[in-house]
Amino acid sequence: QLEQNTARSFPLFLWSNPAKKSLNLSNMRILVTGGAGFIGSHLVDKLMENEKNEVIVADNYFTGSKVNLKKWIGHPRFELIRHDVTEPLLVEVDRIYHLACPASPIFYKYNPVKTIKTNVMGTLNMLGLAKRVGARILLTSTSEVYGDPLVHPQNESYWGNVNPIGVRSCYDEGKRVAETLMFDYHRQHGIEIRIARIFNTYGPRMNIDDGRVVSNFIAQAIRDEPLTVQAPGTQTRSFCYVSDMVDGLIRLMEGDHTGPINIGNPGEFTMLELAENVKELINPKVKIAMVENTPDDPRQRKPDISKAKELLGWEPKVKLRDGLPLMENDFRTRLERPRKC
Ligand code: NAD
Ligand code: UDP
Ligand code: UDP
Repeated sequence: QLEQNTARSFPLFLWSNPAKKSLNLSNMRILVTGGAGFIGSHLVDKLMENEKNEVIVADNYFTGSKVNLKKWIGHPRFELIRHDVTEPLLVEVDRIYHLACPASPIFYKYNPVKTIKTNVMGTLNMLGLAKRVGARILLTSTSEVYGDPLVHPQNESYWGNVNPIGVRSCYDEGKRVAETLMFDYHRQHGIEIRIARIFNTYGPRMNIDDGRVVSNFIAQAIRDEPLTVQAPGTQTRSFCYVSDMVDGLIRLMEGDHTGPINIGNPGEFTMLELAENVKELINPKVKIAMVENTPDDPRQRKPDISKAKELLGWEPKVKLRDGLPLMENDFRTRLERPRKC
């Protein structure tokens, strides 16, 4: 049964249109859900660089924006659809990068029921689509599936320490169900799946006021406002620059391994260290203020990326100290605060 179904997953346009058989096999029609968002729009940029790719973005613009895709609007190989993934979607594609989901705590907590619907019904619909057209589907899961981890660094075999009824659960547990759905469709229907467990990612086009730590600190440094370190400040995170992330996602999609595979930068920083770095690189005069934290904040997080190195030949290239200034330039433009000479 498994083999029979996977046999359907050769490029769709070949079986949907036999007249195109003479075309190069590597032509791909690719759906990116959530493609108007931060990581999604960088992924679209990279996919569009390949002239053999046709890219369709489906996004409801909850946290994303058409502005992120403005250079592609009107391009003959690009299509943008206003669509909510909790509703069924009928398109004919070979690959599905399924990113649609608010990623920042203030947005995913804003309407938690909608967040869980997006994770569960949205992923179910994209798997139904993958099943119907024989597409390969990649889910952007998250390091949050490890919860407040009791194992450090986190490798993929760790099952996590997640509060099922907390304020973050709509996101953490939502992604855990999404992973379960992916594997059940794989085992039951032979769908070709890929699961990336993404660790904190930063770079240009992050929402300026989305409450995430890197975007907060950079915006605060540029605005001459104190950097708000949430207590105790010794909690750690590992930050991956977005171009490295996109490279990892494409390698995972086109490689032979289902995952889950951690994609992230293993460089680990406390929030106080991050604040010191931002201060030094962007605004040495800015103050650092200790503020109250939110519930269930994981105390430490660092990916074990041995699997990504071994199976995908991937590791991040951009160091935090090189990535922060690249993000600063984008934030200065959007905040209309040019650097003082
Ligand atoms: P983002 O908020 O910038 O992008 C998410 C996109 O999904 C937005 O364009 C939004 O409008 C769209 N969206 C949300 N709900 C939707 C729905 N119901 N239907 C259609 N579109 C919808 O976030 P991001 O940082 O680019 O994250 C992309 C993916 O990566 C998410 O799945 C997120 O969970 C995952 N991820 C991100 C990080 C990170 O650090 N950025 C870490 C772990 C996992
Ligand atoms: N689905 C979709 N696009 C498709 C095919 C299916 O959005 O091209 C949705 C469909 O509406 C359903 C979900 O995917 O809600 C799961 O589909 P599946 O065929 O696996 O299950 P069923 O429809 O039998 O419940
Ligand atoms: N954080 C902080 N100041 C801020 C925003 C966040 O110190 O202005 C801390 C937060 O307590 C957490 C870490 O930064 O420990 C990462 O938070 P973020 O929301 O960016 O990502 P996540 O918690 O999802 O990893």
